[in-house]
Amino acid sequence: MRVVIAGIPGVGKSTVIDLVRKRVPYEVINFGTLMFEMAKELKLVDQRDEIRKLPFQTQINLQKKASSAIGKMTDVIIDTHLSIRSHGGYFPGLPEWVIRELNVMAFFVIEADPEIVLKRRSNDETRIRDNDTVESIGEYQEINRYYAASYSIYTGASVFFMDNVEGKPDIVADNIVERLLPHV
Ligand code: AMP
Ligand code: MG
Repeated sequence: MRVVIAGIPGVGKSTVIDLVRKRVPYEVINFGTLMFEMAKELKLVDQRDEIRKLPFQTQINLQKKASSAIGKMTDVIIDTHLSIRSHGGYFPGLPEWVIRELNVMAFFVIEADPEIVLKRRSNDETRIRDNDTVESIGEYQEINRYYAASYSIYTGASVFFMDNVEGKPDIVADNIVERLLPHV
């Protein structure tokens, strides 16, 4: 089975995924890492947060390359974004030709209070985050819900919205694990 775990930057997605990966026999594939490796090789970027600043067509080409690599794998958790905020607009992380290739059964959308997202971002100095406000973070999460609903219609996959409460990433992780492991 293949599933997507998505969430805006700073929502605590990596923390949740690290908890999940220890407990399920799934491979975790980070879409951004694949794109980054490919972009680095082409000497387009040297930092992963530069990818979303590349021209749209370049990002789409990288997205195609990454999705055809992932399309060849089975039993994977795909760590990615429902939409990417780029050049002031939003573009789909999983456009029709990507989502078709990935053949996903479920979407787990990790969300958090925008105030908490801002706080988590300021504690992470390894990343170059956008200059966001509570309002713009709220908008981004809301827009991602529309993207999730559209992907669900395309694929028939279910969507789960999960609140990553501060200090309790294990609650979200438990919920995901429960849905990934076969019931006895
Ligand atoms: P992340 O570390 O998960 O935030 O991913 C790093 C970067 O990879 C993101 O900021 C995006 O530029 C890019 N990326 C990740 N997933 C996708 C996707 N599905 N489509 C396009 N770009 C993506
Ligand atoms: Mg992350």
